Amino acid sequence: MTPRAGRVRKPGVAFFDFTCCEGCQLDALNLTEDQIMDLLRAVEIVEFREVKTGGCESYDISFVEGSIAREEDADRLRDIRERSKTVIALGACAHIGGVNCLRNLVPADAALQEVYGDAAGDYDILDTVLPIDAVIDVDYVIPGCPINPEEFARTVADLLLGKEPRLPRHPVCVECKMAGNLCVFEKGQTCVGPITRAGCKAICVTAGRHCWGCRGLVDDPNIDAQREILDDAGLTVEQILEEFRIYFSCGKEAL
Ligand code: SF4
Ligand code: SF4
Ligand code: SF4
Repeated sequence: MTPRAGRVRKPGVAFFDFTCCEGCQLDALNLTEDQIMDLLRAVEIVEFREVKTGGCESYDISFVEGSIAREEDADRLRDIRERSKTVIALGACAHIGGVNCLRNLVPADAALQEVYGDAAGDYDILDTVLPIDAVIDVDYVIPGCPINPEEFARTVADLLLGKEPRLPRHPVCVECKMAGNLCVFEKGQTCVGPITRAGCKAICVTAGRHCWGCRGLVDDPNIDAQREILDDAGLTVEQILEEFRIYFSCGKEAL
């Protein structure tokens, strides 16, 4: 990046998207006005298709949203990696493949035929949808579907202060208890909160649902214990996988 004369160069931040709904990029800016002004005072957004035109040759911090579904996407991602000092996976699609990995449950040809019919031959896709760390080295992750804007702001602040961004190590259940929720197992329902990384304040349970696992697994999850809990709830393994496959279909996060 070329510094402008007379100005201290601020870190150049870029946003890139692959296969996704782009909701995490929008939520990255879903901050208070004061937080956005603080962010813009601290960094220069040098590339962000949803916000501005133009681009840059190199980046201090690249936020990458979306999963990798085509070989050309993998090539583009590798190029972004080469030109970035720090790469951060933004949201579940980039982190664990997200909802896009539901496509991995059927053969790629069948998925193409279902979506494009007679035009299926016009498209070339990878056999499986991939999270970005299956293609490149990723420095940090901001998990969730969508991300938590506060966690985004904290991650940027940590990086600018030279601190290592850290994710919560405890499971969603801890925040769920702190929120005063009645556990859904007490209501005869099921949940993957015990093995899912906290940081969302158990928002789905508080809203009357259960945890789907969008923030990915905690470090060293006790999968066998979770499986036993779900088995005790009267579900077969097949039913468990069917129930929670929305964020657990890319293989890496499979129950
Ligand atoms: S993680 Fe969820 S909100 Fe973010 S881009 Fe993917 S589908 Fe959209
Ligand atoms: S509802 Fe889910 S997240 Fe909350 S305590 Fe029960 S298992 Fe844990
Ligand atoms: S409760 Fe579970 S599914 Fe909901 S936001 Fe938190 S981690 Fe994601």
